Amino acid sequence: MRLWIKDPLAIFADGAERGLVVEGTRVAERVRKGETPQRIDATFDASRHVVLPGLVNTHHHFYQTLTRAHPSAINKALFPWLVALYPIWARLKPDHLRLASRLALIELMLSGCTTAADHHYLYPEGLENAVDIEVEEARSLGMRLTVSRGSMNLSQKDGGLPPDSVVQDEETILADSERVLKLFHDPKPGAPIRVALAPCSPFSISKDLMIESAKLAERYDCQLHTHLCETVDEEAFCLRMYGLRPVDLLEATGWMSSRVWLAHGVHFTAEEIARLGKAKVGVSHCAASNMVLASGICRTCELEAAGSPLGLGVDGSASNDSSNMMEALRHALMIGRLRYGAETVTHRDVLRWATDGSARCLGRSDIGRIAEGYQADLALFRLDETRFSGAHDPLAALVLCGAHRADRVMIAGTWRVIDGQPVGLDLAALIAEHSQAARDFA
Ligand SMILES: [Zn+2]
Repeated sequence: MRLWIKDPLAIFADGAERGLVVEGTRVAERVRKGETPQRIDATFDASRHVVLPGLVNTHHHFYQTLTRAHPSAINKALFPWLVALYPIWARLKPDHLRLASRLALIELMLSGCTTAADHHYLYPEGLENAVDIEVEEARSLGMRLTVSRGSMNLSQKDGGLPPDSVVQDEETILADSERVLKLFHDPKPGAPIRVALAPCSPFSISKDLMIESAKLAERYDCQLHTHLCETVDEEAFCLRMYGLRPVDLLEATGWMSSRVWLAHGVHFTAEEIARLGKAKVGVSHCAASNMVLASGICRTCELEAAGSPLGLGVDGSASNDSSNMMEALRHALMIGRLRYGAETVTHRDVLRWATDGSARCLGRSDIGRIAEGYQADLALFRLDETRFSGAHDPLAALVLCGAHRADRVMIAGTWRVIDGQPVGLDLAALIAEHSQAARDFA
């Protein structure tokens, strides 16, 4: 079956003016201006659509969709925000996580996202199978997922920030990391599910857990992820606890590698940026979260110039408080201009970060572009809402006018969103169930 997605209004790909041909799960060919593909079984008229490679989200915490705009946490910076939420999150049960994951995945997908990365680090008693739950939900929705087996083993009694009730010991964490790697991690091209290992952040994990996680990642050929240099509080914590700046802690634990992508990366020195770039450490720029928690501004352009893969992330819904990937592009553009000026960060830059850059953070070269052999992951937007009326450049309009909902989404050659609705899922029922779960849980 060869499907020609024909004559798009605009497309974020070179040499595909007349669209692309999808065959099976992959892109078979790009169709240039004045050309027609040779053998075609079906055609999709894309003349009213702007076509993008499916967006790739590099940082999220699905469970936090249950505590958006929570009165105990709003209007706070990161550390007090976390301290207010930890005891609430400690009540998380498997059914809550299941609904939260389903809702977050659908919210992302409706915004044009085709690959999600989730960082789940919360393991209160009874929630030992958190990774299994997220994998089941992604599989049933057809969403591509890198699930980060997060971890915390440094609680308040050991000088860390989280309460004892949400952490596990190192032995339990490493054993479960190995279990989920064996069960779910698929390093092959086109993989629907990958596992990454993700000790949470310097103030909630031991140095030894970082070292052992890096060794395990090497053995199972998977990515490594953590929060780093998000706030100055974190930097002060590292200096006090380890006598090291956060990037030196990475170096000391075997994390200066292209297996690693970091969430936030706000507070780096110029010398640290050069070291990270040389080591090809990726950075997930979470603009909305950084603005909501007033954490600071990521130095995206210097990081990319130094050689780091640069991706975008919506971050957890309690700090964003939204899981909309198109919104993340607009935020990255606006905050980028505030730092670098109006001519430096363009709509093409943020589109590149949200697709190819994000894919590279996740260690993938099979998604994030519309090109021969890449996975057929696509997001198609129409410009017939009021917010686009009068727009001239269709690609720029998506970012500048604030597109937030895709009309069609394809993942691995299968339409998962049609006419702005998820295929085979009752959205109203899901929202009702998820809202109820949020009330019960909080
Ligand atoms: Zn986060």
